[in-house]
Amino acid sequence: MDLSSHTSTAQLVVLATSSALTALFYSIYKNRVTTANRLKGAKKVSIDQDLKELLSEAPGKCVPYAVIEGAVKAVNETLSSQFVDNCKGVIERLTLKEKKMVWNRTTHLWNHTEKVIHQRTNSVPFAIGSLDESISTCVRVVRPLEASALELETTYQNFHPAVQSFTSTIGHFISGERPKGIHEIEEMLRVGDSVTGVGELVLDNSLIKLQPPKEGYCYFLSRSDYDSLLRKQESSVRMWKIITIIFGVAACSTLVYILWKKVAHYRQKKRKRGLMEEFEEQQRQRIQDLNLDESTISPSSCTVCLNRERDCVFLECGHVCACLQCYEFLPRPKKCPICRSAIDRVVPLYNS
Ligand SMILES: [Zn+2]
Ligand SMILES: [Zn+2]
Repeated sequence: MDLSSHTSTAQLVVLATSSALTALFYSIYKNRVTTANRLKGAKKVSIDQDLKELLSEAPGKCVPYAVIEGAVKAVNETLSSQFVDNCKGVIERLTLKEKKMVWNRTTHLWNHTEKVIHQRTNSVPFAIGSLDESISTCVRVVRPLEASALELETTYQNFHPAVQSFTSTIGHFISGERPKGIHEIEEMLRVGDSVTGVGELVLDNSLIKLQPPKEGYCYFLSRSDYDSLLRKQESSVRMWKIITIIFGVAACSTLVYILWKKVAHYRQKKRKRGLMEEFEEQQRQRIQDLNLDESTISPSSCTVCLNRERDCVFLECGHVCACLQCYEFLPRPKKCPICRSAIDRVVPLYNS
């Protein structure tokens, strides 16, 4: 066991990193808790004929954080899928991803990597209407691309494999990068999809709008219903809580370990000092008993016989405190007269 009092750089790095990560993850966790609680407290508003009246009576003609559920309705034009016939939507996202195999020099394995090389999102104005066709009231969605949790539906995907030739294959082995191909994905929010919107609901003249809420509230637009959206937020809260606890425990254990080492080192030092004092006291007693003059004893004389010169070193403690003859007469198991640690080996010293 290494009982050096110096905390190693590695231990400090582990302590600093785990503490910093714990603080970071805790702030994310707190953030998620706030978001989930606000979502839970959001006012559920149904899209019906009374909605306009409800808003005109509300202070500032607005509900600061409201949940609405309904179906996507186009306002004017719609976007058509570039790959699927009769597929109309209001948001369309095209993504090109490059897939590669990269040689890892540490693990000596080819790893899959994926990089978005192009992404374009188009949108047209749209509204959320009631699922009941007979109700004409609808809510215009403002800045839908700012909303989080908006998972679009994948309407088309295709993989274009890279062309491999003999020379290019050799080149890939030398460069450590082997292209696999391009993944093309089209995602859409289609007309008629059921959606849940959470944000600020306002009555602007005669238009009902759902817009990004104020005061740092989260703007949601999701294809799942309100309950699943809430469940998703709650599971994210749980995940961040677990991550924070894991890193918190790691930081605390590192701190406890470092402190424990410091305490152990301090105790060992104290014990050694105590033994040394005890030894010096005994030595003085012996000098008195033998009626010797302290000034006549050489500082390099054996501490056992006080007569011969010290001529050996005890290992592992390293004390040079006795002569070889006295060492031979030490009772078994042989212990260093100064620090009382077991003598594993004795090495004679030759002064020249
Ligand atoms: Zn001696
Ligand atoms: Zn010793």
